[in-house]
Amino acid sequence: METTETTVGTTRVPAQTFEAPGHRTYVILPHGTVRRVCQRCSGVGRLREFGHVFEGVCFACGGVGVQGKAFESAEAAVKAAEALERAAVTRRARETAKAQERMLAVETWRAEHAELVTALAPYASPRSGAPTSAWEAWEALKASPVLISLAESSTLTKPQVALATKLLVEQHAAEEARAVKVASSRYGAEIGEKVSVTGIVTFTKPIEGEWGYSLLVTLAGTGESEGVFVKCFSAAASIYEHAEKGAKITITGTVKAHETYEGVKQTVLTRVKAHKEVAA
Ligand SMILES: [Zn+2]
Repeated sequence: METTETTVGTTRVPAQTFEAPGHRTYVILPHGTVRRVCQRCSGVGRLREFGHVFEGVCFACGGVGVQGKAFESAEAAVKAAEALERAAVTRRARETAKAQERMLAVETWRAEHAELVTALAPYASPRSGAPTSAWEAWEALKASPVLISLAESSTLTKPQVALATKLLVEQHAAEEARAVKVASSRYGAEIGEKVSVTGIVTFTKPIEGEWGYSLLVTLAGTGESEGVFVKCFSAAASIYEHAEKGAKITITGTVKAHETYEGVKQTVLTRVKAHKEVAA
């Protein structure tokens, strides 16, 4: 028992307090009833930090400093506190068991899908981890937040497993295709030499320059030009006429530079002209 003060009406009077299970403090009021001391204001009835709101009256107890039902004796209050504490212990145990169950489910799922978990691992938390995979995989991932969340989540439903597997297969195919492209790429000719490259136009974009617009064109060589990737800027009429994305054309020009773009050798041409390949 401890002697403290409690609020009766508007005055503070001495009162005895005691601790019950679960860190619950009760006060024996002067007329004999027992109440739980307000947890919020510790029985003061006012909260200094809320002094600007309703003169700081405690919302939890309405300013009286006690809360909950009134007990006839300290024994009754302790009994009630013990019951509350037993319920709390049961609840905590149930929560712990549930958390363990969830963890076990995660571990079981990961063990059952070890291959997928390993395959997804490089894609997890790309925001914090370094992007180690090929550029296309990285781009695909950026465009595919679903794979990121799949990689980060611990258990997936059957359709999600199917989706993740499909995405990974596509990713690997793209990475392999890129690796092949990088390995087989070559320059069309030496710098300063003239060259003709036949292939498919893969990209065009008008670019504004010092002397007005010119067209940026990239072309992937086919047939004898397989492995040659051309890049050129040109305002030539024949380029504007024939360089259409997807079209098969021949670009003739002088090699201005040898570049690499994400590992792929790129032949930069200048003074170019183009003519359309007529299907044989
Ligand atoms: Zn209070």
